[in-house]
Formats: sequence, structure tokens, C-alpha cells
Amino acid sequence: MKRANANCTRVRRAVQILVAALFVASPLAAGRALFGAARGSEAPTGVPADLPFWGTLSSSQVGPVTLLDPFAAVQAMAASLSFDPAWLVAAAPVVAFYGLVRARSFCGWVCPVNLVLELVDALRRKLRIEVAERVVARRTKMGAALGVVVGSALVGIPLFEAVSPLSALNKLVVVGSFVGTIALALIVAAELLWGHRVWCRSLCPLGGFYQALGRVGVVRIAIDERACTRCGRCKKACLADPEILDPAIYQGRRTVDAGDCMVCGACIDACPERALRYTATVPGSNLFDSSTLSAANDKEVSR
Ligand code: SF4
Ligand code: SF4
Repeated sequence: MKRANANCTRVRRAVQILVAALFVASPLAAGRALFGAARGSEAPTGVPADLPFWGTLSSSQVGPVTLLDPFAAVQAMAASLSFDPAWLVAAAPVVAFYGLVRARSFCGWVCPVNLVLELVDALRRKLRIEVAERVVARRTKMGAALGVVVGSALVGIPLFEAVSPLSALNKLVVVGSFVGTIALALIVAAELLWGHRVWCRSLCPLGGFYQALGRVGVVRIAIDERACTRCGRCKKACLADPEILDPAIYQGRRTVDAGDCMVCGACIDACPERALRYTATVPGSNLFDSSTLSAANDKEVSR
């Protein structure tokens, strides 16, 4: 039996931290400007709009290009009961990116709440705090996404944006919205007191929105069924829902196709047999296969 490794998680962690740092840069720049102004400094101070990139995951500015989270755009349309083509233009690159890669890659690789919950989970394991594995149907979050859109239309404000824990983290908890910070605290409490990964797996409306888009995208987790011993370690490690691996492990599917897969790679890292790998395929052609990288690494190590 080969050893499990943590390469995917290391790379993903680096990306999560980089993205979080990128979004935190603008409130820090704003704080620096305010601090300079409060001290009566004459020196020009940076403001977020001076940065090449600023904003939050809901809405951001990259140079002259405005980007909008598509779920925020849908909520804005529902809340205002109107349609602005500019929202569609701003959301289109984000939809295209996640549609091309894999929709819930946002949850696994970008969302700061997922990063916080993974840290909470690591701490919990270190402190040997047991958390229940209560199952809440993972489709619940698609219902939550629909409820947010209908609710936004009824009350006239983009509901999830108003309480978003993501924005609280993007703007640093201390300067982010008070409600968003409370929402984040409740999510952490739910993680510890209600059920393991209950927010990301079953409740987050944004996760539900991406789950609805989720089966498209070229990146998938593929299985080598001859190497798999059906030990179930990958299911234990899965950040989305252990059940999504069943068709690949037990029913002869070559890839994990569920729209809920975040392509986080936790299952690849957990597999002691190296039976799982990343693939990127378009009809008729294989663009990428991570087993070729692993083989090169193994060769390097055995030298
Ligand atoms: S893919 Fe790997 S971890 Fe998952 S059941 Fe098979 S051998 Fe075990
Ligand atoms: S199947 Fe693997 S890649 Fe997909 S969410 Fe679960 S652990 Fe992550």
C-alpha cells in the first residue's frame, strides 16, 4: 500500500490564502488612507480605487473591468425587478470561468468561508472535539438559493448579499458588515454543534447556486478502478458529500460527475492507493491528467 499524500491540499491552501489576501488588500488600503487622513498627513495615501484590483467576491474591479458574482447579479435583478445588461456583462466572465473549470471549484478553491471551516475542522480534530455527522440533504442548498432569489424580490434587497459571511471576511471581520460577522459566527457554531460541514454541504445558498450549474466544466476526479480497494478513505475526506464518490467507487463510473464536487482534491490526497487523479477532458480529447505528474514525482523521489 502506498502512502496518502497532501499535495492537492497544499496547492489549494496556497490558492485560498492568495485569493483571501487579494481581497483583504483593499480594506487595508482604505484603512491606511483613513489613518493617514486622521494624522493630518499631507502625503498622498492609497485608496482601494488606486489598486489594480479591489472589491469583494460579490463585486470587484480588475483595472477597468467590473466583475460581478452571478448569484449577486440574479439577486440584484430580483430585488429591483429590473434587468440591467451591464450586470450580465459583469457576471459573464465569472460564469464562463467556473462553467469551463467546474462550478463548485469556487467553493473548494476560492470561498473564504470554506477556508475558515477547514481551519475550524483541523482545530477540532487537534482538540479531539467530536462533531455529529448529521445528514441534511445536499439539495437543500439549491432550495435555499431559490428562496433567497424569491425573498429578494419580495423585500426589495439582495438578501444573501445583505448578510453574506463572505463579504465580512473579504472586508476583514472588523470592518465588514456586522450582520455578516454574526452570520459567520453562526456558521462556525453550526459546524461544531449541528453537523460536520453542514453549511457547505447542505445550506449555503451560493453553494446551491453553483451546484445548480455544477455538472458542466472540464475538470473532474477520475478513478482507476483496478487500483481502488474500496476502503472508503476518500469518502471520509470528501469536502462536499461522501455519496458523490459512490458511482465511481462502486458503480463503474470513470469520473465523479456530481454537480456538488468542488474538485478540491481532498479525496486524491486521502487515497492510499493513488487510485484517484485529476483529469480535464473535452469531447474527444484529454487535456490534462494528473497521474502523469504523480508518475514523474514518484520517479524523481525514487532516484
Ligand atoms: S479510491 Fe482510494 S480511498 Fe477511495 S475507496 Fe478506492 S482505494 Fe479507498
Ligand atoms: S469528490 Fe473529491 S474533489 Fe470532489 S468534493 Fe469530494 S473530496 Fe473534493
